Order: sequence, then C-alpha cells, then structure tokens
Amino acid sequence: MGLVSTPAIVLHAIKYGETSKIVKLATRDYGIQSAIAKGAGRPKSRFGAQLEILSEGTAHLYLKPSRELQTLAGFEVLRLRPGLAGEVRRYAAAQVLTELVLRCAPAEPHAWLFEFLSRQLDRLAEVTSVKLDEAALSAVWQLVRILGFAPQLDYCARDGRSLGAGAARFSISDGGLVCSACAAGRRTALLSRDDREALQHLVAGSYDSPVNLSARHAAAHRRLLARFVRFHLAEGREFKALDFWERLPWRDT
Ligand SMILES: [Zn+2]
Repeated sequence: MGLVSTPAIVLHAIKYGETSKIVKLATRDYGIQSAIAKGAGRPKSRFGAQLEILSEGTAHLYLKPSRELQTLAGFEVLRLRPGLAGEVRRYAAAQVLTELVLRCAPAEPHAWLFEFLSRQLDRLAEVTSVKLDEAALSAVWQLVRILGFAPQLDYCARDGRSLGAGAARFSISDGGLVCSACAAGRRTALLSRDDREALQHLVAGSYDSPVNLSARHAAAHRRLLARFVRFHLAEGREFKALDFWERLPWRDT
C-alpha cells in the first residue's frame, strides 16, 4: 500500500530500544494500527514531543497489510489536549475510552468510531468540573452502545414485557432493566426513577439532558457501568483503566 496519510489518535506509546517508540494509533481510514516510530526517543527527532498519548494529528504511515507492525514516517499534531493531563478524573475517563477502543473495537476501519472518540476526548478536556462525571459516564455508555452492547432500557431484557414507570431493577447479566416478575430471585440493582431517567440520557448521549448527578450518584453509576462492561465486553480480560476509574473517590476537586 505504501505511504498513506490519515487522521489518527495516539492510544498508547512505549519506548522501544534506545531511540524508538512503538505506538498504537486509532486511525480514521485504516482502523487500529501499531507502528514503530524510529528515532522518536532522540532529543532532536522529527517527531518532537508529539507522540503523546491522547494527542491527535495526521499520521504518515508506511502500510503493509500483511505486517503487524507498521512504520510511522511522521506525525503532525493538531490537538494535544493538555486539559486531559491536568486533572486525574479527566485523564482516567479518557483512558477508559481508549482502553475500550483498543480491546473491543472491530479490526476494520470505522470513520464514525474515530470521529466519536475525537469528539469525546475534546469534550472530556473542556467540560466544566461540575459536568465532568456526567460527560465521562455518557461517553463510556455511548461507546458501549456503539460497540454493540447497548443496555435494554425500553422493556424487560428477559421476556420483553413492558415496564411500568418509576423505579426499576437493572440486571447486569441480562443486559438491562427487568420486570418485577423476572427480577424475583435474581441479582439486580434498584434504580430510582431519577437514576433510571439519568441512565437513559447517559446512554443516548443527549448533552442538554437535565441529568445532574450528585457525586455519590455518579459513583454508583460508575460502578454499574464498570460491572456492565466487565460482564459483557471484558471476556475475562483485565481492564486496568476501567478498574482505576471505578475506584476514583467521589470528588477530588
Ligand atoms: Zn420480565
């Protein structure tokens, strides 16, 4: 395929040898790619300090579809997103998104997945502290939905019966809300009317939603989401960024 250029986000970067780096990139046009950036560790490298995790730019890659490790010829950074590195809660949420993309995204390229990740990283970098919990929960829930694991919130996830209004029970293993008959004898989490409504807004990603989670409720929503991801997407693998994000204290600001 030769030399190609594509918008890309750095998901992961490690030093390789004395002077090189190996990066994982989410690219818009060629899906997830691993690439070696030769000389990127040198002080006067042409990559400069630009191969930072979560930064976005134009990657110039020598692509050979048969190869697992491509060669990165250059990277022009467009967005460094310093706002993400400045606050642990922002960085932790962004890391959950990149971890999910790295582990669970389909191998073939999906431009919309790239655009989604780019938009959500911008939002996490810029949203006010007060709205950060909600933005983070919404970004991760939307990604779960995009990856094909939307929780069932419209009717009973077990038997399809309609659900009454108000408080409802959520079953992780069944993948959504369950009716009271199905909830009997099963492990479920009780969602208040407000929490149920909040969950609907978070999954739909409606930014202008009236959701206003208290720190305690946000922590409960984080636990529910983390358990949902572990059950449906992790397949026994460890999700370190997710574990860290779930255990964040209620508020560190
Ligand atoms: Zn049911």
